[in-house]
Amino acid sequence: MRVFTTCTRDCPGACGLTVRVEGGVVRSIGGNRGHPHSRGFLCRKTASYHRTRLYSDKRILKPLMRDGNQWRTVSWDEALQTVADVMNRCVDEYGAESIIYYQGFGARTALRLLNRRFFNSLGATTLEGTLCGGTAIEAHKMDFGKRVSHEPRDHLNSRNIFIWGRNPAVTDLNLWRIIRRAQRNGKTIVTVDPLRTETAARADIHCQIKPGTDMYLAIALSKIIVEEGIHDQKFMDNHSENSDVYLNVLDAFSLSELSGITGIPEKMVYELAFTYSDGPSSIIIGWGLQRYFNSHITCRFIDALAAISGNIGIRGGGVSSGFDEYGGFDESVCLEDRRKISMPLFGRDLENLDSPEAKCVFITAGNPVNLGPNSMKTLSALRKMDLVVMVDHFLNDTSYAADIFLPATTFLEETDLVGSYGHPYISPVNAAVKPSGECRSEFWILKRLSEFMGLDNLEGSLMEWLEIIAAPLLDYHGIEIQDLLKRPYRVPGIPEVPFEDFKFYTESRRFILPSEIPSEVGISDEKSLRLLTVMNSEWIGSREPYDEEKLLEVFIHPETLLKTGLEDGETVTLESGAGRTCATVRSSDKVYPGCALSFRGTWLSRGGCINTVIEDGKTERGHGTPYHETRIKIKKRH
Ligand code: SF4
Repeated sequence: MRVFTTCTRDCPGACGLTVRVEGGVVRSIGGNRGHPHSRGFLCRKTASYHRTRLYSDKRILKPLMRDGNQWRTVSWDEALQTVADVMNRCVDEYGAESIIYYQGFGARTALRLLNRRFFNSLGATTLEGTLCGGTAIEAHKMDFGKRVSHEPRDHLNSRNIFIWGRNPAVTDLNLWRIIRRAQRNGKTIVTVDPLRTETAARADIHCQIKPGTDMYLAIALSKIIVEEGIHDQKFMDNHSENSDVYLNVLDAFSLSELSGITGIPEKMVYELAFTYSDGPSSIIIGWGLQRYFNSHITCRFIDALAAISGNIGIRGGGVSSGFDEYGGFDESVCLEDRRKISMPLFGRDLENLDSPEAKCVFITAGNPVNLGPNSMKTLSALRKMDLVVMVDHFLNDTSYAADIFLPATTFLEETDLVGSYGHPYISPVNAAVKPSGECRSEFWILKRLSEFMGLDNLEGSLMEWLEIIAAPLLDYHGIEIQDLLKRPYRVPGIPEVPFEDFKFYTESRRFILPSEIPSEVGISDEKSLRLLTVMNSEWIGSREPYDEEKLLEVFIHPETLLKTGLEDGETVTLESGAGRTCATVRSSDKVYPGCALSFRGTWLSRGGCINTVIEDGKTERGHGTPYHETRIKIKKRH
């Protein structure tokens, strides 16, 4: 039997899959050629998903309850009755806001909207902010009125594709395939990145920029385009606001200053400006770019570069940073949010919550200790709670603080719908096999918990809820929910080429040019290194459970290594305002001098997790996480 479904992992692909099932067991996972975006592609991480996750011998198949330092197996009734009793007591004694709901990015399907409904109807505290983007969305809202990206395939119409702070060869393989096809067709691929990533290594031009100075490069390119008179004056006059102030900002810097700030030789800045202005040129904004305090301003100057050079509203142009995975659904099912806690500042906020204090935390599809900043702060804050419940597939770094573990189904065992942050389609999730062991879906878990707590906030069957959540899509396409479970449908209201009519969603209907610049520039002082943390090509989010003990690795440029007096392979201590950890230092010329690079997702208990030294904070706008603002000191370990 073959089952058509969709990958729901934290990845922009949301690839269509064909799952071969024999005797109720998944035998293989392949790509579904019928999916309009992935067209038969899937990555090797998901091709082996049935071996590494679904049937992993480390998967937890029964509810667990903490007993001192041990876990003991309990029945669902005992687990849920305990959770219900503690949560009801919290509501009575402290108020419902003492219960905190943490929803991670591990799976963002339609039915997961009901998780927020459950906690909102209870009056609990939920999350705001993000560990990923946020600042680009905020910038697009300020400039265009809202974020609308180009159809990914529209990059095939570009003459030049600028990939800015992103590594699609690792983080968005479907987009990468489109980019490579464009390159084979003779299009120029430019990457702007402080690291020589897998993407940069294959680009036609790699502009290796000092981290945190991207805004100045955008200003430099715009300045050249204006000074050479190859800008779109008509667009600036008729469709934009603020052009005088914006031009003053461009005038405030000389090219040699901008070249010095960014570390890009003037010759290359000119080459980039002339390449970009020989459009149509598209810009793809990445997550790396969004991990600085002021990255919304950087994104605004990148938007402006596209606008003043005539690259908005045309095929093969635009500035794209992704899509809203919940854009096609009716999010009103979530009900109104009550008190909110910051995702980027989770540990700190959890400790400081007042009136009422936090008493109970319920976590789904997330591993905040491992993936959020300041791991030890999060861990210690969670340990102070009366109860921490986690819903997941495996025990992980967050389970050190958990009291109850509820085993969740994987997407291969679920029926649902999923949007994507990498393309504009809603795709079906069809259960290929029955749940392993006693694993249950989050929908089932919260519905049962609701019954144990004497609530009626999730009454209705799974199909009834899917119909309600997907109503905008069903109405638009004139289809039934059963149709939507057969194949992907496009989210209404997302054009392939946005803003062709130059009517923007801002109040004035014009594009808003930026007029502000942040004051702080620079990468590191002499004694500290800016730490960049990126995704590894081997796993998504945090690593699947592994036995091998291997010290965390940190990569620095050979010149920097020399200055610090360290040698490749030495064991060092990394120290920041958040804490310290041990690591093996590695020499790598892929990293910009004066910086350090490490990979996210390795475990505290298996040799270290880089987020133990990442300081918690939030971006100035867009409520993102400024991971790349952490400076570390590296010392030899004696
Ligand atoms: S590329 Fe992303 S969406 Fe596609 S199968 Fe792999 S993890 Fe899933």
